[in-house]
Amino acid sequence: MTNVKQEYINKTYRTLINSGVQRKRFETVNYGLNTPIDAKKLKDVPRGKVILSQEVFEQLLTVNDESEKARAEFSYILTGITEGQTVKFDNIVWARNQGNSAEADFTPLLGNLNSYIRAVQQIGEQNAIVCNGHTHPKKLSRFAEDFSLADMAGFMQMKEDNAVFKNGNIELCSGIMSDLNFNFCFYDDKMQDFYKFNDVVLELETGEQIPLSCYDRKVSRTDIANKIYKPEKSFRDNLRQGVPTLTHQSQISIQAQRRLALQRELGITSENNDRTY
Ligand SMILES: [Zn+2]
Repeated sequence: MTNVKQEYINKTYRTLINSGVQRKRFETVNYGLNTPIDAKKLKDVPRGKVILSQEVFEQLLTVNDESEKARAEFSYILTGITEGQTVKFDNIVWARNQGNSAEADFTPLLGNLNSYIRAVQQIGEQNAIVCNGHTHPKKLSRFAEDFSLADMAGFMQMKEDNAVFKNGNIELCSGIMSDLNFNFCFYDDKMQDFYKFNDVVLELETGEQIPLSCYDRKVSRTDIANKIYKPEKSFRDNLRQGVPTLTHQSQISIQAQRRLALQRELGITSENNDRTY
């Protein structure tokens, strides 16, 4: 993250040091602005949960894989709504890294962000939330899953310096996507502290929720693919329970196709899927 004011870097540093848990990181791996913040040690958003729509998940999968291939950070914005401490993201825009530096550049997405803010204000949506995110390719750092000091200071600045986020007209959180870990973090300017969302799930069109990796929780691609791929009931089961209508059958078949497509995107096909049913 570029162009972070010194005051926010100092304030973020003090916030993290004051909470005590990050002191060790600054003592052992102090890379200045790039010091990795031990994200697993951030406090949890109480009962916090992030739900990704199928569309958002699929796009993030592409962002993750392409960024890894390019060995460069890509930027993305997610938009959605909050319900209590649950955040549901159903929209995404993202940008490849076009610059010479491997560092994420948020500028190509500013136009999208501004038009989203205008739209929210016009329709008077009260529960809108934006996530400002970027990738950390795992090839670039052994601390790829962590936010850097500059990342966190940048998130603080984005909230403090923009009335729409500062006043809470639209909520703001931040994200790091690294090796299929979906790490989300929230800065509370009243409490002056950073919090993590310790539960992130993919919600399929059927409403089923599949846990994803975040912080300490690790879910492999195969685990996700196995949960996505569930063969529909057999002919025999259907006979016992009554034959579904044609409309229902075609819905089932569309869902099955979508699931298989999603599995392919994860790089796992039913042929090399060793789980049997
Ligand atoms: Zn970063």
